[in-house]
Formats: sequence, structure tokens, C-alpha cells
Amino acid sequence: MDFQSFFATRASRMKASEIRELLKLLEQPGIISFAGGIPDPALFPSAGFADGYQAALSTETAGTALQYSVSEGYRPLREWIADQMQKLGVPCTLDNILITSGSQQALDYLGKLMLSPNDTALINWPTYLGALGAFNAYEPRYDQISVNGNRSAADYAAAAEAAGGRVKFAYLSADFANPTGETVDRRGRENLLALAQDLNCAIIEDAAYQSLRYDGEAIPPILALEAAQTGDINACRTIYCGSFSKTLSPGLRIGWVCAAAPVISQMVLIKQAGDLHCSTINQMALTHVAETQFEAHVAKLHAAYSARRDAMLDALDEVMPDGVSWTKPEGGMFVWMTLPGHMDGAALLEQALKTAKVAFVPGRAFFADGSGGNTLRLSFSCADEETIREGIRRLGEVIRAAL
Ligand code: PMP
Repeated sequence: MDFQSFFATRASRMKASEIRELLKLLEQPGIISFAGGIPDPALFPSAGFADGYQAALSTETAGTALQYSVSEGYRPLREWIADQMQKLGVPCTLDNILITSGSQQALDYLGKLMLSPNDTALINWPTYLGALGAFNAYEPRYDQISVNGNRSAADYAAAAEAAGGRVKFAYLSADFANPTGETVDRRGRENLLALAQDLNCAIIEDAAYQSLRYDGEAIPPILALEAAQTGDINACRTIYCGSFSKTLSPGLRIGWVCAAAPVISQMVLIKQAGDLHCSTINQMALTHVAETQFEAHVAKLHAAYSARRDAMLDALDEVMPDGVSWTKPEGGMFVWMTLPGHMDGAALLEQALKTAKVAFVPGRAFFADGSGGNTLRLSFSCADEETIREGIRRLGEVIRAAL
């Protein structure tokens, strides 16, 4: 999807025939793709899901599995999630949990709930493309988040007011962000919380990759830090968006929101109007897999993905010329590369596809202001170590030639 969107944004600058040619190249045999930001299908817990669907369709529960259900979500799944959130330091009850169709739906609903045209959303530059897609529909103005406390709330508020609205929320992934792979440290999270308190705005904490930490110490979610301050989740401004897409399966489209009960109630109304509820049978099958093998399965993902990340980082160290830098993520699926300023990621992609059969996502699409032309995103989730080493070797050659 990211990749298609890249072509869509480029469409105004490229002729349709050129785009078709590039898309054809992507389908060629032998292409090594670091483009898709998706989990490896070989790692899905398919047998567990087969058991889960079979159990849901047993005589006793088939009537429930195939029936309409409540908008808040399947109760046993909400209980399992509430338990997980408590382990992360969030003192929540079922009233604080809503099941959504992936975290993507939560982002759309939160845009709908909070944004009017010309309101300001604080985001990172670069940020998750799907969040921009979700928020854009509500016509916000974007401003750049600062987590180091170097910009005052008054400054943000004045800029938002001059644009004809208010700062409504700050959106970020604090762990292993898409596209950069970077993590916000505890101080940064506390700074952001203080800023949001001063601005009296919400924080949307996108935790899509939070479970995928391969090394380093886990940092409490912003919601947990805030709940420790307020002593009451119902007094918290942070809205935590979780997802099973990167751990169990994106195809079932199941995520959740954990937030103050009044926020959940508003979102329930939006969900009732939108799609009534998430698929009952999918929620039941997923609950089975979560209850029986979540920890063991996530441990398996950690082993596989961390080996791929290491292979990518080692290969980058070996082959990349001076002037090229990249992030060293402690988890997630992405490495973010910065090329020398005069280079263009999109032009490099055309070259890489044609001469080296390597694909990645040029970084510009992740910037709300269209900057970042000299950046690119590499995903290590879907290729084995040998393929990753070969792909990075080829990419190194293309970059050297372009330099
Ligand atoms: N947030 C981030 C940062 C993502 O990368 C993604 C998926 N690529 C999502 C949210 C949406 O995931 P889903 O709707 O499948 O939960």
C-alpha cells in the first residue's frame, strides 16, 4: 500500500506510461523487495487460527460466532487486552477498551472525533503514511512534534490559532516508528506529555510495533506514564492504539483502543455508525490464538526478525559509502536511510529497479510537506538473511554509481 501511494504521489510528476513501466519492473522475477511494510506470511500462526475458527464454529458457539455482536468488541478479547495493558502499567478496565478494525480504523475515527478543517495535528516528519491518509480527510494543518522540549506550548498554540484552529492532538509511534524504526526515550515521552498538558490536547499513541522489541529496555507507553501521574486512566488524555496486525495477523483486521472511558464512549458511537462492530468470528478465533500462544509466538517473531535486522545492519555497515547514514532500530520492521543531500530517493528507486532489481520506498511520501527527497525506507521483515545481504549489496552498488 505504501508503495502504491508513492506512485500515486509521484503521478503528478510522471507520465502514466512511465509509472506502468516501473510497476512492471516490480513484478519481475528476481526483484528483492525491501518495500512492503508487512509481516512475513510464513510466520503467521495459521494452525492456531484453524483451531480457533473450528472452536468458534462448534455447535455451542456457532450461533454467537456468526451473529451480530456489540460495538465495543468481543468481551473475552477485551478482557485479554485489558490484562495485557495492565502488564504494561496501564490500570484499565473493560470500559477503557474498544476493538477496532485494525489500528487504521482507530486513526480514522480519532480524526473524525477531533479534527475540524484548519485544526492542527502535531506529527513527526516523517510519519506513518496511513495516519496522514486518515487525518487528511478532515483537512487539518500539520505541525512538527518536538519531544525535546525546545518549542513552547505558547508557540504551538499561536501558530495553530493563526491558521484558524487549535492543536487537537499529537500523533506518534513511540516505539520503532514507521518509517524510521526510531524509539522515543522516556524523557521524550514525558516532555510530550507535558506539552500536551500545556496545550490541553490529546496524544494519539500508535503502538502498532510495540510488541516487536528485539533488544534494549522496554520503555513504558505514554499512557502508562500519564496514568502514573493522574492515578486514574479516565483522567488521561493519551489514546493508545494497539494492533494484532504485526504480531498475529493483519488479515483479520483487529486492533484496539485503550483510553479514558468518555473517549471510548464517543468512539463506540462512531463505530456504531461506521460498521456496527468488528467481525465476531474473527474476534473469537483471534482470542483463541492470543490466549493459547501469544507470548510464544511473539518470541518466535523476535528471533526471526531480529536476525533479519542484524543481517541488514551488518550488510549496510559493509557496503555503504561515506555520506550515507541509517537508523539502528531496537525493534519493528524498518531501517531509515538518509542519502547525501543532493540525491533523490525516487530517482534512485528507478535506477535500483532497472539495474539491480532492488525495491524500497522513497522517503518523500512520509513527509507532510513533501520534503525528505534524500531519504528512503527499507523493510527487513519479509526476506531471509541471505537475500537481505544480497539486496543491500546491490543497493550499495546503485548508490555508489549514483554518487
Ligand atoms: N500504525 C502504523 C505505524 C502502521 O505501520 C500500521 C500498518 N502498516 C498501522 C498503524 C495500521 O495497522 P492495522 O490497521 O493493520 O492495525
